[in-house]
Amino acid sequence: MDLLKTLVDKGLRRELPTRDEALAVLATSDDELLDVVAAAGRVRRQWFGRRVKLNYLVNLKSGLCPEDCSYCSQRLGSKAEILKYTWLGKDEAVAAAGAGLAGGAKRVCLVASGRGPTDRDVDRVSQTIEAIKEANEGVEVCACLGLLSGDQAERLRTAGADAYNHNLNTSEATYGDITTTHTYADRVSTVQQAQAAGLSACSGLIAGMGESDEDLVDVVFSLRELDPDSVPVNFLIPFEGTPLAKEWNLTPQRALRILAMVRFVCPDVEVRLAGGREVHLRSMQPLALHLVNSIFLGDYLTSEGQAGKADLEMIADAGFEVEGSGTTTLPEHRAGALAAAGGCGSHGGGSCAPCGDAAEPAAEETSGAADVRTDLVNVRRRGAGTDLAPNA
Ligand code: SF4
Repeated sequence: MDLLKTLVDKGLRRELPTRDEALAVLATSDDELLDVVAAAGRVRRQWFGRRVKLNYLVNLKSGLCPEDCSYCSQRLGSKAEILKYTWLGKDEAVAAAGAGLAGGAKRVCLVASGRGPTDRDVDRVSQTIEAIKEANEGVEVCACLGLLSGDQAERLRTAGADAYNHNLNTSEATYGDITTTHTYADRVSTVQQAQAAGLSACSGLIAGMGESDEDLVDVVFSLRELDPDSVPVNFLIPFEGTPLAKEWNLTPQRALRILAMVRFVCPDVEVRLAGGREVHLRSMQPLALHLVNSIFLGDYLTSEGQAGKADLEMIADAGFEVEGSGTTTLPEHRAGALAAAGGCGSHGGGSCAPCGDAAEPAAEETSGAADVRTDLVNVRRRGAGTDLAPNA
């Protein structure tokens, strides 16, 4: 297919595809799917080889958020029966992070629900970052605390944070449909504050919220312009008790096409398969490893993922390898630019939204109706905030 040849050539040269080319990827048929995956896989291997970076989420503060993000189980008025707790103590956070690192993770993502941190919260998280860094040489730490001021970003960087996550989630045109308590511009501003402080920016999206193909391409092109080092791609987990609970619109085939499109638009960026992979890709997860170079190990913020051991087996069975702590994630040209700006040189992140527990629907399926798989939505009952061992 000429389209795929063009996209591979551009991806290998780090050139931006046209919007029409990105839309055409989303419009490919199921008969063309393996060709699409193979083409995007060539771009993935050019910049990241067969390495898979593992990231581990620690939910520092769960639920009870005053914001109204429709996809989120922690939102204002959510009836989802998730774990709710206020800030984890430093020792508990360090122990949770240690479990993820022992399981093979390279980065720890410290996430807290809420609109944004108070200065006291930043102090608290800074102490946790320092403790995690002290206990685990070479670990990367990403914070995800909501809307951030420039001063707060500086303080997190000084404490040793490598990265900051804040997702755009959806297109600017539809942002007001999913959230009313803050704006798309607020989110862009936070990502820029993090970058200005020398933090590696991590910013991504949630697919499956009823958006059009144009919306998906819009948000991915906006992300490319914002130039984060990592882009988490979440697939909506339609939690019972949230406004988007009935939105089951994704098939494994569509999820793969979305990941391929993101890879073509952001060829040399850490593309992370985030929340919803087990729910929507199901037995097709290994194919996604040909598109993304990063996943979360184990559980998400408020939902449970497959066993960490199963993640590791999947990676090995598919012929990929877990990225070691001595390896720089990003290609040299990106890592060098980041190091020059004061960052750590190997980036990614999580997010108070996405990393796990979003909720809503998509349109325009080309491969039939999506399955409703409420049986795969498992509220997290172990790990941080509980007495049970974490999944790592
Ligand atoms: S995504 Fe973040 S800000 Fe929005 S409701 Fe959830 S926890 Fe609150």
